[in-house]
Formats: sequence, C-alpha cells, structure tokens
Amino acid sequence: MDLTQKILELKKEKKAVILAHNYLRPEIQDIADYIGDSIELSRKAVEEKDAKMIVFSAVDFMAESAAILNPTKKVLLPCLGARCPMAQMLTVDEIKRAKKQYPNAPVVLYVNTLAVCKAECDVCCTSANAVEVIKSLNAETVLFGPDSNLAAYAQDKTGKKIIPIPENGFCPTHLLFQPEDVQVLKMKHPNATVMVHPECSSDMRKVADFIGSTSKMCRYAKESPSKQFIVGTEEGILHRLRKENPDKEFYLAYEGAICPNMKLTTLERLYASLKEEKNVVRVPQAVANKARASLERMFEVKS
Ligand code: SF4
Repeated sequence: MDLTQKILELKKEKKAVILAHNYLRPEIQDIADYIGDSIELSRKAVEEKDAKMIVFSAVDFMAESAAILNPTKKVLLPCLGARCPMAQMLTVDEIKRAKKQYPNAPVVLYVNTLAVCKAECDVCCTSANAVEVIKSLNAETVLFGPDSNLAAYAQDKTGKKIIPIPENGFCPTHLLFQPEDVQVLKMKHPNATVMVHPECSSDMRKVADFIGSTSKMCRYAKESPSKQFIVGTEEGILHRLRKENPDKEFYLAYEGAICPNMKLTTLERLYASLKEEKNVVRVPQAVANKARASLERMFEVKS
C-alpha cells in the first residue's frame, strides 16, 4: 500500500476529515476531502458533524480557528512548525495600545492572527469578506490588523478610515510580487487576465483586472471567458486552477512566490500525525470562548 492509500484507510478508520488550504502541495490537495481558503475550511470544519477528527493541512492560525469552532473534535496540524509569519506580527499588547488610542473604533482582525489576538477583537474577517465585515460596522474609523495591504484595500473599497495595527504588517510571500514582472508576462501573453490577492501591495493591485481571495479567484477563473491568467498569489493555487480549468492557462506572476510554511505539510508528516494522533491543537478555554465569539460574528455577516 502506498502512503496515500494508507492515509485514506486511516482517515476512514478514525473518522477523520482532511482539510487543505489552496496553497498546499498538490499531493496533499489531491487526498483532501475539502480544499479551500480559510473561511471555506472553517465552515467545512463546523459542517462535518460526524467527523471525530480534523486534520488541518495549513498553518497554525487556521488550525487554531478550527479547534476554536469545534471544541468536541480533535484538530491535528500535521507540522507544528507551520506558522504564518504575518500572524506573528500582531501582539495582544499592540491591540490594547491601539484600543486606548482609538477607544471608539471597533477592532477587526484578519483570521491570520493568533487565537489570543482574536479574543481581543470585535469581529474577524478573511480576505474574502473583509470589505463586507467592515461595511457592516456602525463606525467610520476601524482598527484593522495585521495585514496593512488588506487594510488599504478595505479602505479603498469601503471609504472608511482604516487604521492598520501594526502599521506595516504584511505577508512575506505576497510582498514578492512586483508590477514589473506582470508587465513582462503581459508582453508574452497580451490577452491574459491579471488576478491579484488583496495581500499584495497597492502597486500590484493597480495592474490587476481582478482582486480577490483565493476562493474568489477560483470562481472568477471558471466563469471568465478569458483563456489565460496571470496569477498574483501563492503558487499552490495553480494546481487547483489548472485542475478545474483544463482548457485554460495560468502563469504565476512571480515564480518564486512560495510560502515555505504552507509547504511544510508533506504526506509523511500528515500520515504520522494521523496515525499517532499527534500535534493536537489546543486553545485555552477562556481564550477560545472569546475568539469563537469574534469568528461567529464574522459568519453572521452576509458576503
Ligand atoms: S502565504 Fe502569507 S499569509 Fe499565508 S501563511 Fe504564508 S506567510 Fe502567512
């Protein structure tokens, strides 16, 4: 039996469900029960009522969210070292300082934050629903963290004053994209549509035909009449895009845009974690209760 088969057998035996983010290695995406972005996977984790265990193939903050939303299920993170550097850029102290400075401004946190930070905010959001979440708030000034690029994008879209906390939080992978690289690709593929993630810089957003989360990109690529796309997000998404659209071509806007943390989950690590039920994600109850309220408020916003 090869490793993939062994994982599938174990999964059945242990009533586990495998969730994989769009940025994961192709072989992990191929054995996952669901592939998606953070909001889609968080929803799936809740919907899977019969599952006893969730193997969350992604990075720390996503697995934490799954554990918060599913207190009765065992949530495993195949590689404990898979940590999002952007999530580490925001601390509880920073949130408290910002709240003191702007006492009337609600705090919206991107799900790419640690549970202790989620516990301190009014509502969470993802890149797919940040604009709708901010629009839903009865406030013209909003504190937003940790991604300053998503904050700037949300400010453009909502017209509200968005104060980023910290001032310069960013995703190191999305920061690698530069408009010059898109221009070169456009010379080779002049009819290609440019899709860009809102974690990219404002310069990249300016050269985009479409700006959206990974789930929105997947939908857009399917529905668009365009046959060629230049993609401004982590390279793992190309596997799904190509699989779902075999008649279309996809080019990464910068070949080196690889998130090393998303690639830490391998078949071997996933197998070991599932077999030994190790790397269980635990969030202290008091923190989980407060963070869950912030996540549930996000789910209440229509997007
Ligand atoms: S792609 Fe960026 S935001 Fe996503 S996990 Fe990697 S570093 Fe974090």
